[in-house]
Amino acid sequence: MKGVVFIAFNQMVEDQSGIDTWERLLETVTPLSGGVYTSVENYPDSELFSMVEALSKIVGIPIPTLIEQFGAYMFGVLNKKYPLFSKQQKDFFSFIKSIDGVIHQEVKKLYDNPNLPNLDCKEIDPNTLAVTYRSPRKLCFLAEGLIRGAAKHYQVNYSLSHDLCMHDGHDRCLLMLTTE
Ligand code: ZN
Repeated sequence: MKGVVFIAFNQMVEDQSGIDTWERLLETVTPLSGGVYTSVENYPDSELFSMVEALSKIVGIPIPTLIEQFGAYMFGVLNKKYPLFSKQQKDFFSFIKSIDGVIHQEVKKLYDNPNLPNLDCKEIDPNTLAVTYRSPRKLCFLAEGLIRGAAKHYQVNYSLSHDLCMHDGHDRCLLMLTTE
């Protein structure tokens, strides 16, 4: 996984739980990187997962919830770093629909071999978007959080139902988004 993701994770931990918690995480996990990241470098996925697991024990929040919270936080970090992507899209659904075809294409230019998930969007009606998520990493909760971050950015109220999930043995996750 790219360093940019680890940097965002480090920021979230320091913002929400303090630098002491970050230090404690590093002591627990003892990552090879030493907890110092460069945004374009690759670091092992296992390093992030170990840190999420350790953080879950420290703060007493279940892993899927933490991953979702991280997704929402990461939207803020990425949107600040690359504000053009949300500026180019007039509304929430347009933004979500642009992730796979537009944003991920740009990410591929910026980062070598980024290993991105596949997001297939289908607008059922003006208030309903079906998002099919596929990734060997099965980080659908991260996707849920990123979607929440985007909804907040567009000031949209919505509900999400996770109708199919790779964690339940399906070959994909299906997230149904309904706006009010
Ligand atoms: Zn899922």
